[in-house]
Amino acid sequence: MTFPKNLGGMEERGFGLDLAIAEAGRCLLCEDPPCSKGCPARTDPGAFIRKLRFGNITGAIRTVKENNILGGACGVLCPAASLCERECCAAGMDRPIRIGKIQRFLIEHSWKTGFKVFDGEVFERPAARRGKVAVVGAGPAGLSCAAELAKHGHRVTVFEARPEPGGVLRYGVPAFRFEAAFLKKELEDVKALGVEVKCSSPVAKKGAAERLLAGGYDAVFLAIGLWSPRRLTGTRRDLKGLFTSLDFLAALREGDHRLVGRFFKGKACAVLGGGSVAIDCARSALRLGSRDVYLLYRRSFSQMPAEEDEKAEALREGVHFILLSQPVGYVADSKGGLTAIRLVRTRLGGSDSSGRRKPVAIEGSEWTLDVSAAVEAIGYKPADGSPDWYPSVAVDKGGLIRADEDDCRTSARGIFAGGDIIRGSDLVVRAVQDGKTAARSIMEYLGNP
Ligand SMILES: Cc1cc2nc3c(=O)[nH]c(=O)nc-3n(C[C@H](O)[C@H](O)[C@H](O)COP(=O)(O)OP(=O)(O)OC[C@H]3O[C@@H](n4cnc5c(N)ncnc54)[C@H](O)[C@@H]3O)c2cc1C
Ligand code: SF4
Ligand code: SF4
Repeated sequence: MTFPKNLGGMEERGFGLDLAIAEAGRCLLCEDPPCSKGCPARTDPGAFIRKLRFGNITGAIRTVKENNILGGACGVLCPAASLCERECCAAGMDRPIRIGKIQRFLIEHSWKTGFKVFDGEVFERPAARRGKVAVVGAGPAGLSCAAELAKHGHRVTVFEARPEPGGVLRYGVPAFRFEAAFLKKELEDVKALGVEVKCSSPVAKKGAAERLLAGGYDAVFLAIGLWSPRRLTGTRRDLKGLFTSLDFLAALREGDHRLVGRFFKGKACAVLGGGSVAIDCARSALRLGSRDVYLLYRRSFSQMPAEEDEKAEALREGVHFILLSQPVGYVADSKGGLTAIRLVRTRLGGSDSSGRRKPVAIEGSEWTLDVSAAVEAIGYKPADGSPDWYPSVAVDKGGLIRADEDDCRTSARGIFAGGDIIRGSDLVVRAVQDGKTAARSIMEYLGNP
């Protein structure tokens, strides 16, 4: 079986030096830059774009790296049009400065030119401080917290359940949007700060977080994300050709194209859901050679949670959007292979708690769609049983850890939490923000503000 080349490589290229400088040249050099206020992680685009504009490339790189150790990942993955670039429009630009692209350029340029994060180029090597911290989870929140603490001289160990670090960046986001080689380079910058990352080391036994404290760590940061996919209720789950978005995307990231691909290549498939993850799955299915990819969503186009540019890209690539249709079950052959999805048509009724109009099933409207494969991309929740891993920490009824976004403190002394496990599914840049916030709180807690 052959696969299109771009299944494994980032398709959109970053700016080169000339383009980046030309783009920075359009900046109005606003006072008190609105773009900087629009960045959740406080990466400070106003400052790095000003430096680039005046030819201070090293200074611009330093600003990004000082403020956001995952500045490259954010440059590629941030939905900048609804964050920093939206504020740039509000500042009076018809076309906002392409902040994400400039940020990505600066980080790629730093790698090309052999820029070192330590030894004077970004950070001075700090004096060692007392305090040993355990970070649980090597996703963006955990890595950002660990980097921040290491920069200040604290000893940090990151415990990661999976064989490699990166969290969703490594096992979720498809490689055609964010490739492993890019992540690897950014991780080298984190490790260069002295962060120790222990992979295949889950902290997942009863009371495991409290045991870290009892075993000599002075503080614990829980950044375990959401790793349990929501499933379509009341349906069979053991069908050949039926995947969760987690299994589907992780298999592709692991290179298991053949295992997954045989259900998709040359065949019709469906993706259930209307968010960014559903779009990622649909576009991945196209790249596996699916003949027809149907995106099934129970509300209308404008209510889909995916970003506008993602929806446009999926449409442009040929994904068929089937809207106002709710999947209600699967049809299988005698060998347990998926053959079709049962759906009902919906109409929009009154508003729900999120303010969106609720889909209401239309009686007698059931129909079936023939498919050989389906991917459920209808959200993620905390791993089953995860509250047992940290019994002294208060969680809400959905299992999310209760922690204040302003300080990432939990109900348990010495245990902090951030990222998706406190917010629900969110963004890389907000996980980075939480990592920085938690590091500040942990340093205060350790008496080293
Ligand atoms: C398919 C997909 C595409 C996305 N695309 C984008 C995008 O384009 N832009 C964007 O901004 N956001 C995107 N997101 C969202 C973004 O990736 C998340 O908000 C972000 O990764 C959350 O970071 P985190 O550190 O909280 O958690 P995660 O990234 O989930 O990392 C948590 C880590 O903890 C580890 N872990 C879990 N349990 C344990 C345990 N018991 N012991 C040790 N380790 C453990 C996990 O293995 C994982 O490595 C996407 C999400 C998905 C699923
Ligand atoms: S980190 Fe993201 S939101 Fe912040 S300035 Fe960079 S691209 Fe914009
Ligand atoms: S808001 Fe836009 S124009 Fe103003 S400083 Fe930021 S990037 Fe430049």
